[in-house]
Amino acid sequence: MKGTIAYRFETPTYPGNILYLNLISNYSCTNSCVFCGRPKSRKEIGQPNIYEKKAGSSLYLEKKPTVKQALNAIAAKIKPTDNEIAIVGLGEPLLNFLTVEKLLTEIKRKYSVKTRIDTNGTIRCIFKNPAQRLAKAGLDEIRISLNAVSKKEYDKLCNPIFPQAFEELQKFIKDCIKESIETKASFVEDFKRKEIKQSGRKEREKFALSLGIKKKNIIFRKFMKPIKVWGF
Ligand code: SF4
Repeated sequence: MKGTIAYRFETPTYPGNILYLNLISNYSCTNSCVFCGRPKSRKEIGQPNIYEKKAGSSLYLEKKPTVKQALNAIAAKIKPTDNEIAIVGLGEPLLNFLTVEKLLTEIKRKYSVKTRIDTNGTIRCIFKNPAQRLAKAGLDEIRISLNAVSKKEYDKLCNPIFPQAFEELQKFIKDCIKESIETKASFVEDFKRKEIKQSGRKEREKFALSLGIKKKNIIFRKFMKPIKVWGF
Protein backbone atom coordinates (compact mmCIF):
# COMPACT_ATOMS: atom_id res chain seq x y z
CA MET A 1 0.00 0.00 0.00
CA LYS A 2 1.25 3.47 -0.87
CA GLY A 3 0.68 6.23 1.63
CA THR A 4 0.77 9.95 1.02
CA ILE A 5 3.65 12.32 1.82
CA ALA A 6 1.79 15.63 1.21
CA TYR A 7 -1.87 15.82 2.25
CA ARG A 8 -4.60 18.23 3.32
CA PHE A 9 -7.46 18.65 5.74
CA GLU A 10 -10.17 20.83 4.30
CA THR A 11 -12.99 20.78 6.79
CA PRO A 12 -14.75 23.74 8.43
CA THR A 13 -12.43 23.25 11.46
CA TYR A 14 -9.19 23.11 9.50
CA PRO A 15 -8.41 25.88 7.05
CA GLY A 16 -7.61 24.81 3.52
CA ASN A 17 -4.47 26.93 3.20
CA ILE A 18 -2.18 24.52 5.03
CA LEU A 19 -0.22 21.78 3.28
CA TYR A 20 0.57 18.88 5.62
CA LEU A 21 3.62 16.64 5.32
CA ASN A 22 4.01 13.06 6.47
CA LEU A 23 7.66 11.97 6.91
CA ILE A 24 7.02 8.97 9.16
CA SER A 25 7.63 5.33 8.27
CA ASN A 26 5.46 2.56 9.73
CA TYR A 27 3.53 5.02 11.93
CA SER A 28 6.62 5.02 14.21
CA CYS A 29 6.66 6.75 17.56
CA THR A 30 8.73 6.63 20.75
CA ASN A 31 5.56 6.63 22.84
CA SER A 32 2.57 4.37 22.96
CA CYS A 33 -0.17 6.63 24.34
CA VAL A 34 -3.29 4.94 25.64
CA PHE A 35 -5.42 7.35 23.57
CA CYS A 36 -3.39 7.03 20.35
CA GLY A 37 -5.41 6.15 17.27
CA ARG A 38 -2.54 4.79 15.15
CA PRO A 39 -3.04 1.29 13.78
CA LYS A 40 -1.47 -0.96 16.40
CA SER A 41 -0.81 -4.04 14.28
CA ARG A 42 -0.22 -4.89 10.62
CA LYS A 43 -3.80 -6.19 10.52
CA GLU A 44 -5.09 -2.69 11.26
CA ILE A 45 -3.11 -1.06 8.44
CA GLY A 46 -5.56 -0.09 5.72
CA GLN A 47 -8.34 0.44 8.24
CA PRO A 48 -7.29 3.98 9.09
CA ASN A 49 -8.42 6.13 11.94
CA ILE A 50 -10.19 9.44 12.01
CA TYR A 51 -6.99 11.35 11.22
CA GLU A 52 -6.48 9.49 7.93
CA LYS A 53 -10.16 9.83 7.12
CA LYS A 54 -9.81 13.60 7.40
CA ALA A 55 -6.58 13.49 5.37
CA GLY A 56 -8.47 11.52 2.72
CA SER A 57 -5.70 9.00 2.21
CA SER A 58 -3.49 6.47 3.91
CA LEU A 59 -0.44 7.85 5.72
CA TYR A 60 1.27 4.48 5.92
CA LEU A 61 4.76 4.73 4.43
CA GLU A 62 7.10 1.74 4.43
CA LYS A 63 10.19 3.97 4.29
CA LYS A 64 11.01 7.42 5.60
CA PRO A 65 10.79 9.90 2.70
CA THR A 66 13.98 11.65 1.62
CA VAL A 67 14.31 15.44 1.36
CA LYS A 68 14.00 15.15 -2.43
CA GLN A 69 10.83 13.04 -2.23
CA ALA A 70 9.29 15.48 0.24
CA LEU A 71 10.18 18.49 -1.94
CA ASN A 72 8.65 16.76 -4.99
CA ALA A 73 5.49 16.01 -2.99
CA ILE A 74 5.27 19.67 -1.91
CA ALA A 75 5.79 20.93 -5.47
CA ALA A 76 3.00 18.65 -6.72
CA LYS A 77 0.44 19.69 -4.08
CA ILE A 78 1.17 23.24 -2.97
CA LYS A 79 -1.34 25.94 -3.95
CA PRO A 80 -0.57 29.64 -4.45
CA THR A 81 -2.97 30.37 -1.55
CA ASP A 82 -1.11 28.13 0.94
CA ASN A 83 0.43 30.05 3.80
CA GLU A 84 1.70 27.19 5.98
CA ILE A 85 3.50 23.85 5.66
CA ALA A 86 2.90 21.63 8.69
CA ILE A 87 5.00 18.50 9.33
CA VAL A 88 2.64 16.18 11.17
CA GLY A 89 1.67 12.69 9.86
CA LEU A 90 0.63 9.80 12.06
CA GLY A 91 3.36 8.93 14.58
CA GLU A 92 6.40 11.03 15.55
CA PRO A 93 7.79 13.22 12.72
CA LEU A 94 11.02 14.13 14.53
CA LEU A 95 12.17 10.51 14.30
CA ASN A 96 13.14 11.67 10.80
CA PHE A 97 15.03 14.59 12.37
CA LEU A 98 17.86 15.01 9.85
CA THR A 99 15.40 15.10 6.95
CA VAL A 100 13.12 17.53 8.82
CA GLU A 101 16.08 19.81 9.48
CA LYS A 102 17.23 19.90 5.83
CA LEU A 103 13.69 20.13 4.55
CA LEU A 104 12.86 23.18 6.68
CA THR A 105 15.87 24.98 5.21
CA GLU A 106 14.76 24.10 1.67
CA ILE A 107 11.13 25.08 2.32
CA LYS A 108 12.21 28.49 3.59
CA ARG A 109 14.50 28.91 0.57
CA LYS A 110 11.78 28.02 -1.95
CA TYR A 111 8.45 29.15 -0.49
CA SER A 112 7.07 32.11 1.48
CA VAL A 113 5.17 30.09 4.06
CA LYS A 114 5.08 29.60 7.79
CA THR A 115 6.51 26.25 8.96
CA ARG A 116 5.12 24.11 11.78
CA ILE A 117 5.80 20.73 13.41
CA ASP A 118 3.46 18.71 15.64
CA THR A 119 5.51 16.43 17.92
CA ASN A 120 5.52 14.44 21.16
CA GLY A 121 8.46 16.63 22.18
CA THR A 122 10.80 13.87 23.39
CA ILE A 123 13.43 14.43 20.69
CA ARG A 124 16.07 15.50 23.24
CA CYS A 125 16.21 11.81 24.22
CA ILE A 126 17.79 11.14 20.79
CA PHE A 127 19.42 14.31 19.42
CA LYS A 128 21.46 17.10 20.97
CA ASN A 129 20.17 20.67 20.81
CA PRO A 130 17.12 19.90 18.64
CA ALA A 131 15.34 23.20 19.39
CA GLN A 132 18.38 25.26 18.41
CA ARG A 133 18.80 23.25 15.21
CA LEU A 134 15.12 23.50 14.24
CA ALA A 135 15.09 27.25 14.87
CA LYS A 136 18.20 27.67 12.73
CA ALA A 137 16.60 25.61 9.96
CA GLY A 138 13.58 27.95 9.90
CA LEU A 139 10.90 26.47 12.16
CA ASP A 140 8.26 29.07 13.05
CA GLU A 141 5.80 27.09 15.22
CA ILE A 142 5.82 23.87 17.21
CA ARG A 143 2.88 22.06 18.82
CA ILE A 144 4.00 19.72 21.56
CA SER A 145 1.81 17.02 23.11
CA LEU A 146 2.28 17.54 26.85
CA ASN A 147 -0.76 15.65 28.14
CA ALA A 148 0.32 15.43 31.80
CA VAL A 149 1.59 17.43 34.77
CA SER A 150 3.88 14.79 36.32
CA LYS A 151 6.15 11.95 35.27
CA LYS A 152 3.78 9.48 36.91
CA GLU A 153 0.80 10.72 34.91
CA TYR A 154 2.83 11.01 31.68
CA ASP A 155 4.29 7.51 31.96
CA LYS A 156 0.84 6.01 32.55
CA LEU A 157 -0.78 7.90 29.67
CA CYS A 158 2.04 7.87 27.12
CA ASN A 159 4.13 4.76 27.88
CA PRO A 160 7.37 6.32 26.59
CA ILE A 161 10.28 4.12 25.45
CA PHE A 162 12.67 6.56 27.15
CA PRO A 163 12.36 6.69 30.97
CA GLN A 164 13.58 10.32 30.93
CA ALA A 165 10.97 11.37 28.33
CA PHE A 166 8.87 13.65 30.56
CA GLU A 167 11.90 15.49 31.93
CA GLU A 168 13.39 15.98 28.44
CA LEU A 169 10.01 17.05 27.08
CA GLN A 170 9.83 19.88 29.62
CA LYS A 171 13.39 20.97 28.74
CA PHE A 172 12.51 20.86 25.04
CA ILE A 173 9.50 23.15 25.58
CA LYS A 174 11.71 25.65 27.42
CA ASP A 175 14.41 25.39 24.70
CA CYS A 176 11.85 26.07 21.94
CA ILE A 177 10.55 29.15 23.77
CA LYS A 178 14.13 30.37 24.26
CA GLU A 179 14.73 29.97 20.53
CA SER A 180 11.67 32.18 19.83
CA ILE A 181 9.76 29.36 18.13
CA GLU A 182 6.00 29.93 18.68
CA THR A 183 5.49 27.09 21.17
CA LYS A 184 2.11 25.49 21.85
CA ALA A 185 1.35 22.67 24.29
CA SER A 186 -1.59 20.32 23.98
CA PHE A 187 -3.52 18.05 26.33
CA VAL A 188 -5.97 15.33 25.34
CA GLU A 189 -9.23 15.67 27.27
CA ASP A 190 -12.26 13.47 27.84
CA PHE A 191 -10.28 10.27 27.74
CA LYS A 192 -11.09 8.04 30.68
CA ARG A 193 -9.35 4.96 32.07
CA LYS A 194 -10.36 4.27 35.62
CA GLU A 195 -6.90 2.94 36.55
CA ILE A 196 -5.22 6.20 35.41
CA LYS A 197 -5.65 9.26 37.61
CA GLN A 198 -5.60 12.28 35.32
CA SER A 199 -5.03 15.93 36.14
CA GLY A 200 -7.79 18.47 35.54
CA ARG A 201 -7.85 21.41 33.14
CA LYS A 202 -6.87 24.02 35.78
CA GLU A 203 -3.89 21.98 36.96
CA ARG A 204 -2.78 21.41 33.38
CA GLU A 205 -3.07 25.07 32.50
CA LYS A 206 -1.04 26.05 35.58
CA PHE A 207 1.66 23.53 34.67
CA ALA A 208 1.91 24.66 31.04
CA LEU A 209 2.16 28.31 32.16
CA SER A 210 4.95 27.33 34.60
CA LEU A 211 6.95 26.00 31.64
CA GLY A 212 6.63 29.35 29.88
CA ILE A 213 3.78 28.52 27.48
CA LYS A 214 1.51 31.50 26.84
CA LYS A 215 -2.13 31.01 27.87
CA LYS A 216 -3.30 31.46 24.26
CA ASN A 217 -0.95 28.63 23.24
CA ILE A 218 -2.41 25.96 25.52
CA ILE A 219 -4.55 23.56 23.50
CA PHE A 220 -7.14 21.20 24.97
CA ARG A 221 -8.00 18.53 22.41
CA LYS A 222 -11.05 16.30 22.65
CA PHE A 223 -10.27 12.61 22.54
CA MET A 224 -11.62 11.07 19.32
CA LYS A 225 -12.35 7.41 19.19
CA PRO A 226 -10.49 5.56 16.42
CA ILE A 227 -12.72 4.36 13.60
CA LYS A 228 -12.24 1.32 11.46
CA VAL A 229 -14.57 1.81 8.57
CA TRP A 230 -12.43 3.61 6.05
CA GLY A 231 -10.72 1.76 3.22
CA PHE A 232 -8.44 2.92 0.42
S1 SF4 B 1 2.88 10.63 20.87
FE1 SF4 B 1 1.22 10.84 19.38
S2 SF4 B 1 1.68 9.34 17.77
FE2 SF4 B 1 2.95 8.83 19.54
S3 SF4 B 1 1.78 7.28 20.63
FE3 SF4 B 1 1.26 9.28 21.53
S4 SF4 B 1 -0.57 9.97 20.43
FE4 SF4 B 1 0.36 8.32 19.23
